[in-house]
Amino acid sequence: MTTAPHARTRAAHTGNDEFLLTPGPLTTSLTVKQAMLRDWGSRDKQFIALNARIRDKLVGIAGGEGDYVTVPVQGSGTFAVEATLGTLLPRDGKLLVLVNGAYGERMMKIAKYMGRSAIALSCAEDRTPDLASLETLLSEDKAITHVAAVHCETTSGILNPIAEIADIVAKHGRSLIIDAMSAFGAIPLDVREITCDAIAASSNKCLEGVPGVGYAIIRRAALEKCEGNAHSLALDLYDQCRALDGNGQWRFTPPTHVLAAFDQAVAEFEKEGGVPARNARYSENCRTLVEGMRDLGFETLLPDDLQAPIIVTFHMPADPKFDFTAFYDFLAARGYVIYPGKLTVAPTFRIGCIGQLVKADLEAALAVIAEVLGEMGVTQCGPAANAAE
Ligand SMILES: *Cc1c(COP(=O)(O)O)cnc(C)c1O
Repeated sequence: MTTAPHARTRAAHTGNDEFLLTPGPLTTSLTVKQAMLRDWGSRDKQFIALNARIRDKLVGIAGGEGDYVTVPVQGSGTFAVEATLGTLLPRDGKLLVLVNGAYGERMMKIAKYMGRSAIALSCAEDRTPDLASLETLLSEDKAITHVAAVHCETTSGILNPIAEIADIVAKHGRSLIIDAMSAFGAIPLDVREITCDAIAASSNKCLEGVPGVGYAIIRRAALEKCEGNAHSLALDLYDQCRALDGNGQWRFTPPTHVLAAFDQAVAEFEKEGGVPARNARYSENCRTLVEGMRDLGFETLLPDDLQAPIIVTFHMPADPKFDFTAFYDFLAARGYVIYPGKLTVAPTFRIGCIGQLVKADLEAALAVIAEVLGEMGVTQCGPAANAAE
């Protein structure tokens, strides 16, 4: 493990030797991890207050005070997405999903599992949804009741045009559900400007908590109409909300330590300066990474204007000396864990810029990348001509 002074300072801050350059779970602060060193009774007054505080603050981050409510659910982000779709969609409803990556696909799969009617408006992973087709579909298919969209599609790191999507969906009088998992807290999403009925996210992305709890921020007036919609007791957010609003307690065993860590993570998020500060830090990380990789000859999948400052997809170098497994292992052995790609459009890999990371961490990672390329004897980091297309 590296013992450079910078790495030592950073290890003291995070309590790790490793940096996760991944989209979550991600690198958390030591203080977030330390918040888990206590056992809580789920009926403990302080624990009830902690939950209420988190719920209120999440609504505040979305600008939804008064009209929206946070409903948390045990599990990873997908549990929150499944719970949100299952609770908001009436059994005779019809969902239109905007798909340009794995998380849009996953919402289609969820709808199929639940036995709800759903159609996809799909495009390639390096393109944003076709807004004219969205207009046409909503005009022509009156059966569509809800539209689901992903804010930052983590598959590629693309930023979808959520404001434009929301305007079209609102104009056609349909309900919008946003999977904002990898964007919430870092990319502005204010429900006073972006009309939607629900935003789903989780503890272990841009709010920098540990994994184990998902949540939806739901318009109260919409949620009140959802009694009996859910296909699953455990994933019924209407029932979950009624219990939490009633006596402040979860219906079933809450992930107490995860929530204590999340409470601390949200406090650190506020101290840093909220969404603008987190956006600025991640944007600087992203810029540093992209510029450094381009200097080494790598090419990004996305043009800069579609790139969210969350995770960056790079084309695999065409150079036959480049071996991704060896590249990954070399970086991991020096404390930098990256993320393989799973795109259909081109062979790629991904590097995340979220979590407790600062510019100097990305610079240190870039130095290790330059070192491994030297060891491999890779001189050509650009993609094969056909992959660049
Ligand atoms: C992380 C993520 C999810 C949830 O994934 P889990 O593995 O269940 O946490 C959903 N949507 C997007 C866009 C994500 O980035």
